[in-house]
Amino acid sequence: MARVSDLTPLRYSTVIATIGLVGLGLAFWQPLTGVVWVLISSSIAGFRHRKLLKLRRRRKPPAESRPVHKEEPAPPQRRFDTTQIHHTPLRGPVLATENEPIDWRGMRRQQETETGKALGGMLDFARRAIGCRTVALFLPSGDGTVMLRACSSDREGIQPGTKLAPGEGLLGSLLKPEAPPSLLELSVPPSSSDLGIYDPTTGPKSLAAIRVMITGKPALAMADSDTPLDRGVLGELTELSSAADLLLSRTRELRLEMRGREVWQRLGQFERTMGSVVKEELAHEELRHFLLQFAAAEAVFFILPEPGIVTGRSSERWYGRVVWTLGSDCDVAREFKVEVPGRGICAGAMARGEFLQRRLAPRDPVPLLGHGEPVLPLDAGGDVLSAPVSLGVEGRPGMLVCFRSREPFALVEREIIQTALSSFGQALTRLRGATELEKLATRDGLTGLLNHRTFQSSFRRELLKARRTQAKLALILTDVDFFKKVNDQHGHPAGDAVLRGVAQLIQSQLREEVDIVARYGGEEFVCVLVGTTEQGALETAERIRKAVEDGATDIGEPEPRKVTISLGISVFPDDGGMAEELIERTDQALYRAKHAGRNRVERALSPGRTPVS
Ligand code: GH3
Ligand code: MG
Ligand code: MG
Repeated sequence: MARVSDLTPLRYSTVIATIGLVGLGLAFWQPLTGVVWVLISSSIAGFRHRKLLKLRRRRKPPAESRPVHKEEPAPPQRRFDTTQIHHTPLRGPVLATENEPIDWRGMRRQQETETGKALGGMLDFARRAIGCRTVALFLPSGDGTVMLRACSSDREGIQPGTKLAPGEGLLGSLLKPEAPPSLLELSVPPSSSDLGIYDPTTGPKSLAAIRVMITGKPALAMADSDTPLDRGVLGELTELSSAADLLLSRTRELRLEMRGREVWQRLGQFERTMGSVVKEELAHEELRHFLLQFAAAEAVFFILPEPGIVTGRSSERWYGRVVWTLGSDCDVAREFKVEVPGRGICAGAMARGEFLQRRLAPRDPVPLLGHGEPVLPLDAGGDVLSAPVSLGVEGRPGMLVCFRSREPFALVEREIIQTALSSFGQALTRLRGATELEKLATRDGLTGLLNHRTFQSSFRRELLKARRTQAKLALILTDVDFFKKVNDQHGHPAGDAVLRGVAQLIQSQLREEVDIVARYGGEEFVCVLVGTTEQGALETAERIRKAVEDGATDIGEPEPRKVTISLGISVFPDDGGMAEELIERTDQALYRAKHAGRNRVERALSPGRTPVS
């Protein structure tokens, strides 16, 4: 029979099935025997099964009295179990979603707090283990000195942040590489000690200090006591330092790793923003913001090429203009013009459209941007990085110049800046392309005024508005008098110059952003005066006529050219309600102005109106 441990539902079902099959076999031979066999054997099996179940329940200890699995006590650890520190995982989210941006600053703060706590704990522990009054660490502070950054003491008056320079004083002398590796001063009279961290009256009687390496730089570990310390303390301090070194090195690695992730995450965001930015100014603003956070430069100049070429020189020259700067010393550089190619090293790089990184010696006389450049923070020397910004296939490049007096820009920093600039350049190219396309579609290439097609749609839109608001609207059509002669006498290019001049003069007499002025065709221009009555239109037309009559257009010859124009006027709704009707009436008025002697204004002659006298 099955043992308790074997009593599974499967086994029980198999027993019952076997009884059933044998019973069936017997039933074929002798039905009564079969039935008796089934009854007897199944009741024996059921009885046995219940008994076994009971037995199992009895043997199984109740849940509450079951022995609880106790954690093995951790093996005693050495005082600074560095393996544990080494495996401290990076806390916090690693990837952020769009909706849940990572709080990098918060993470940094949390990490700093945790490291501080861990280091403090180590020092407390070491102090108790050594049985002294103070254990302290002077950590490297970047400028060659060490600073009292971690301390566990029951003394009053120990100043955190105290700096020690190598060779200065009793402790400072230990920092020198040639100094003996350890120092154990017993019974130091406080008054004669030059230990800057102590109050002279409460200084220690014994002191142990040792030069150690923390995060790859010299540091100092020390302990003090009012009872004599033995040389063994130096070994304890060395051990403490190596644990602290591991903790701080790991913290630094994590900080760098976090910073790296932050930068690349922000770079991703920056690229997405550049892909959808709708205005150039916003793209500039984003770039400035990004560089402020991640370029770690003291001075930044952003230069954009100015339209036009400086002619009359042997080689083609052009100008770049410093459009914005970052860094308080660089304000003076705004609007500075960089001649390209010019004398400045950045101007040279801009001319060639190449990336440049150069280390400048203090007071290096090499100009950065060019002749007469504004004062830059170059006195202490430093690293200059100048990166071109491609603004389209044919366009000249823009240029970003970053300067920093401390360590040179690292490879990864260059990559970050170049990646950001590349998407910035693409954004500018896209925005400029879109503006250019829109201009091509809506503007007249010669005069820059709206073209005929745009006039037609704008005029109809304004008519609809006027109809809805029951406002008036005037239409003026102008034609240059005897323009053929201008072309014949001065040539077609001079004629073009005259047309540009006339267009400007007409535009100057109208309200910006309110009225519409367009090139109707050839030497004809059309104006739509929004919300203007006949009287107002007559006055404006007369003003335009006079402006053109008085104004001279520069046709690139010694004598500027003067021309006159004739004008026709119609007013909505007085002269008609539909666009075609109004244009027709205005054209007729213009025709009459021509016939009446030119250089004059005529209004439409709708039924019941008299001509302008
Ligand atoms: P008026 O209008 O006073 O009767 O005399 P007109 O000499 O101006 O006569 P018309 O309007 O017939 O001539 C228009 C001339 O303008 C003809 C054409 O060569 C010239 N023209 C049209 N478009 C342009 C252009 O874009 N540039 C130049 N230079 N000339 C143009
Ligand atoms: Mg004409
Ligand atoms: Mg004409």
